[in-house]
Amino acid sequence: MGPVKMGSIRASQLRACRPLLLRGRLAVWPPAHREGRVPERGHVARPHSTPAASASLPQQARVVVVGGGIIGSSIAYHLAHAGWKDVVLLERDKLTSGTTWHAAGLMVTFGSTSATSTSLRKYSRDLYSKLESETGLSTGFEPIGFIELATTPGYLEEFRRVSDYNRLQGVDVQEIGPADVQALFPLCKVDDVLRGFYVAGDGRVNPVDATMSLVKGARQQGAKVFEGVAVSDVLQAHGRVAGVRTECGHEIKAEYVVNCAGMWARQLAAKSGVSVPLQAAEHYYLITDAIPEVDKKWPVVEDPSSYAYIRREGAGLMVGLFEPWGATWRAEGIPQSFSFGEIPADLDRVSLYFERAMQRVPRTLEAGVSKLFCGPESFTADLRPIVGPAPELENYWVAAGMNSIGILTGDIYIYTYIHIVIYNIYIYIL
Ligand SMILES: Cc1cc2nc3c(=O)[nH]c(=O)nc-3n(C[C@H](O)[C@H](O)[C@H](O)COP(=O)(O)OP(=O)(O)OC[C@H]3O[C@@H](n4cnc5c(N)ncnc54)[C@H](O)[C@@H]3O)c2cc1C
Repeated sequence: MGPVKMGSIRASQLRACRPLLLRGRLAVWPPAHREGRVPERGHVARPHSTPAASASLPQQARVVVVGGGIIGSSIAYHLAHAGWKDVVLLERDKLTSGTTWHAAGLMVTFGSTSATSTSLRKYSRDLYSKLESETGLSTGFEPIGFIELATTPGYLEEFRRVSDYNRLQGVDVQEIGPADVQALFPLCKVDDVLRGFYVAGDGRVNPVDATMSLVKGARQQGAKVFEGVAVSDVLQAHGRVAGVRTECGHEIKAEYVVNCAGMWARQLAAKSGVSVPLQAAEHYYLITDAIPEVDKKWPVVEDPSSYAYIRREGAGLMVGLFEPWGATWRAEGIPQSFSFGEIPADLDRVSLYFERAMQRVPRTLEAGVSKLFCGPESFTADLRPIVGPAPELENYWVAAGMNSIGILTGDIYIYTYIHIVIYNIYIYIL
């Protein structure tokens, strides 16, 4: 039997396709599905810390940032903007090659009941909307709007309270009726929708483009960014950070190290006796084939009653899941060679969630599925990020464990972080 064309598969057939998928025959990955810069992808085993990359490394820096995902890039950007001249960012492979490259890119200010978190979500949104004017590189931010659906009295009450609170923080939340929801997103099923909570200025960002723009902004301020350089150890002397050693054996002396190694952060930190309790877990979305009615102006819709978010992707729709029961990935440790990688989907576990999620936009059940994607994301036990100085080792800092909102909140933490580093002010978030 030849390769199966995803376009011929209906959502209801996902489960039947499981054996094929697991043998890797169904996984086609049409690069065209992303509208921004598309990196090379696949589970690529490539040498890290190439001698060529290591040759130009400095001997000394004030701070070494480990990891070139959205978080490390944002740290480098903000530190450089705060006036730190000798910022060095080291990325094991290519920028964004861990989790950032495949994020869905939702940029939402609605939903938090923390004043600090809400105001700093607004900071992230504003930064993404204006970064291009500074760097010349678009972040792909599109203020297409966001609607949270309330389909039960419980959700209605909860979101009304959240809205009141968010409005107090300056988020323009409008409560709208089912007909308004349908006017904004005509294919959305609204017969069970009690109310929608709409933020017109929210939307989506392209995570790869946003990272590249942050990196360029960091470089413009003097930061040095190296790809293909893996940190093997953090050096220490007298109970504090002294620098890093790369896989090629090069050492950079540094006053501070910031571990932004995403799902690798735990194992890198453990080498220094630092505890970073996060775990990679499966995270899913699918992308449908083209649906002619889809319009670029449609907002992102989130439906917590079906654990789903839905937005346009290319000429089709993306249906993403936040299923209530997750699955860990590689508890024993993340392979060093995992780059632009994906995880074989566990259809037995997720297909019913997808079927339920897709019922919110029934047209997705008729369209073919062009891509079913499962990628790893770092989660923590209390769903809070691990951000700040490590108590075990002076000047060892961590920013990891983003619980699937690293793109929309990344700059939040970093902004907060910079205030901690620069002004020694502790701001408690979330
Ligand atoms: C399917 C999916 C959808 C998502 N959708 C959204 C969304 O809509 N909105 C949102 O806000 N978030 C979303 N997320 C979450 C978001 O992608 C992550 O929170 C974010 O990308 C984490 O960024 P990071 O920089 O911490 O990690 P990463 O992107 O993994 O970056 C860590 C980097 O460190 C590097 N590294 C590791 N070890 C070393 C070493 N020893 N030396 C040097 N470098 C090293 C890696 O190569 C990697 O590039 C989604 C995630 C998934 C999986």
